[in-house]
Amino acid sequence: MEIRNLISAKGIKVTPQRMRVLEAIHKLNNHPTAENILAYIKKKDLNIGSGTVYKVLETLVENNLIKKVKTEKDVMRYDGILENHHHLYCLSCDYIEDYNNEKLDKLLVDFFNENKIDNFLIEDITVSITGNFIKHKNINH
Ligand SMILES: [Zn+2]
Repeated sequence: MEIRNLISAKGIKVTPQRMRVLEAIHKLNNHPTAENILAYIKKKDLNIGSGTVYKVLETLVENNLIKKVKTEKDVMRYDGILENHHHLYCLSCDYIEDYNNEKLDKLLVDFFNENKIDNFLIEDITVSITGNFIKHKNINH
């Protein structure tokens, strides 16, 4: 779907800033930081400030257009892929790779169906697998 339609489908106003930030996340395609996003946009449009980018990121998260990805480090990363998936996080190069495995998904759902957690409603189960890639990935941040 086009960026413009993705935003308007959420019933929020389509602004050039929102379009640029969402487009950047989809183009960068590897869990970029706000800084990565800002650098990408600044290449095309010098008039966007970091405050605007942070504000737009919050709006996009609130409206389920992107997801926040928490990592070992204190830097927030953003994900444009909304379907449930897991992450492989490389400790030495900071690279985050998506990991999909139906068997794991089924295992998790079955486990928590059998082992309900008191006073807690599960919305989403995302596994973050931390380790090191043996053959390194290209780092672009
Ligand atoms: Zn991801």
